[in-house]
Order: sequence, then structure tokens, then C-alpha cells
Amino acid sequence: MSEKRDYYEVLGIGKSATEAEIKKAYRKLALKYHPDKNPDDKEAEEKFKEAAEAYEVLSDTEKRQRYDRFGHAGVGGASGGGFGGGGMNMEDIFEQFGDVFGGAFGGFGGGRSSRGGGARTSRGSNLRVKIKLTLEEIATGVKKKIKVNKLVNADGVTYKTCSQCNGSGRVMRVTQTFLGQMQTASTCPSCNGTGKIIDKKPADADNQGLKRQEEVIEIDIPAGVEEGMQLSVTGKGNAGPFNGIPGDLLIVIEEVEHPLLRRDGEHLHYDAYISFIDAVLGDSIEIPTVTGKAKIKVEPGTQSGKMLRLKGKGLPNVQGYGSGDLFVHINIWTPTKVSKEEREILEKLKESENFTPKPEDRDKGFFQRVKDMFQS
Ligand SMILES: [Zn+2]
Repeated sequence: MSEKRDYYEVLGIGKSATEAEIKKAYRKLALKYHPDKNPDDKEAEEKFKEAAEAYEVLSDTEKRQRYDRFGHAGVGGASGGGFGGGGMNMEDIFEQFGDVFGGAFGGFGGGRSSRGGGARTSRGSNLRVKIKLTLEEIATGVKKKIKVNKLVNADGVTYKTCSQCNGSGRVMRVTQTFLGQMQTASTCPSCNGTGKIIDKKPADADNQGLKRQEEVIEIDIPAGVEEGMQLSVTGKGNAGPFNGIPGDLLIVIEEVEHPLLRRDGEHLHYDAYISFIDAVLGDSIEIPTVTGKAKIKVEPGTQSGKMLRLKGKGLPNVQGYGSGDLFVHINIWTPTKVSKEEREILEKLKESENFTPKPEDRDKGFFQRVKDMFQS
């Protein structure tokens, strides 16, 4: 799968671009790569779609924020994921952004829209579901089946042209103002601007041709997502009224707390406890990771508070840029009760010079190491 380009780069604008600048940049590109200007040019069509996708995200405040924070994964463009990357077809583009073309192509969508005449397609509402994920699932990415109760198009609904607006979706109104009579166009109230009304419908369909139904949707969650992140699956939300276009399915990530590992972005932390005997003599200990258990070596003479870093054993970056690390914090376990025999042994050890703390030696060692580093 090819790498998706940065949306700001696609539109040739900076990260701080204003709404007006975004619209202007998109308009320029849309006109340049418009299919009417570039007939049978696949490359132009791809550029046209790419620009529309970038505009769809950056022109929507909420989507733009998610994109700024999580990149393509936050707005449905995760590479390899099921989030409809590049899922816009030409129809959608004309339906949604036709207005940016203004009069340049003889009206809405250059006549491509099957509805024509300026009637608009109503869009279904977005559906939002929460999904709980364990760190193990987040580490690898996961396919999940979720059951949603949503509005779908009812079978057997037929439509006819709205008689109030003759299918244009707009009605002219004459209003009296202090300047005199003014004619204004407004959305047709009978068909809600869609230009059509229901002709026949089965009993289970509502007045918009929809019905409620449970549906199981399989979603592909990319690795590295985090609590609060929102993913969108284009077109899997509620169906649009009057056979319109469906809304999106928004998936809000909830993270199940791991019993042993703490998450800090892409990094993980684990508190390991070893006996002071093992700290003195060295040992091999088993630690949990998100992909199973791992063995690590504790060197003889390990001090409490030592941190071991396991490169790449953290969580993958949600945008696919490598992985974080797993930090193992070594804690020395102090027994709270000792037997008489143990006490005798410990009392004996107490007399040994080796068991007297000498933190200054450790510090000297550290400074010596730094000095050595600069001298080499
Ligand atoms: Zn109408």
C-alpha cells in the first residue's frame, strides 16, 4: 500500500492555515485537476480525489484536530486499516464540495450529479461507539466485530419527484422588506431539499424511507491507538434520509488498564522486584511484555532504582513510525520478617565492609564515566 501524503502538503498550505486559505487552496487544485479539464487522465483524477480527501478533513474543525494529533489514523486513513482511506468517489466529491467550483463548470458538479438541478442529497448522521481494548490488542492492532443499532435504507421504498419544488430541492420565496419585495431561494420544506419524496413504502419504513436494524460491523483497528482517540469509518453510520448518503461510524477508543504495565505514550513501564540476594549475585528474571513474557538478565551488583531499557518492546507508533521502549525499574524487595537463623546470617553479613552503603562510589563512577566519554 502506498504511503499517504500529508494533507497540508497535498493542499500546499501550512499547518496554521485558516479556513479561508484551506478552501482557496482546495478550489485551486480542484479546478486544476477537474475531470472536465482532464478527460481520461487517471493521474489528474487521483490528484482530484486526493485534494478532496485532504479538504474533507482539514475543512472540518473536529477532523482537523484529530488529524493534527493522530495523523491519518485519526481520520480514517490508517494505512492497512479498514478506515476507507481514499474512500471518496467522484459522486461524493461533487455532492459534498460542489459549491467550491462556483460557476466554473456550469453548475453543481458539472452535470455529473444524477440528481442534478441543485437538489441536495441528505446525509445520515454519524454513529459513535466506544470500544474497549487491552494493551495486547493495541500492541498488534486488532479486528473487532461490533454490533450497532442503526438506521438503514428500508427495502421496497420508491421515490417520486417532489411536486412542490419540481425536484429542484429549492423553492422561491417572496418576502417584503423595507427595500421592497425580495425573492429568496430556500430549501423546499416538503422534500427537505432532496427533490424527491416517498411514493410507496413498506410498513416498517419511516417517513424518510429508513428503518432501524442491528448490524454487525467488522473494523480493523490499527496498532498504537490510545485512550480517547477517535477513528472514523466512512459511510458506516446511519443511512441518509431519502436514499441519501450515509454518515460515518466513529469509534472512540477506551483503554483497559493493564495489571502490570503502565503506559506512557508509546513507552511502557514495569516495576520489577528482586531480592537483595539476587541484586548482589545477579539473576535472570521474567518480565511481562505486551507480546508475551521475556527474560532479562540482572547483573551482579545491581542497585535499587536501576532502570533497564528494552528497545522496541513498547507500543507501536500509531502512524507506523517505529515502536516505543519498555522500561524495567528494578526495586529491591526487603523482607519484613526474618527467622532466627536468617537474622544470625544477616548479623554476620552486617560486619562485612561490603554491605556498608557507599553511594559516593557510585556517583564517582558515574562522573568518571562522563569524563571518560568526553576524553575518548
Ligand atoms: Zn421539494
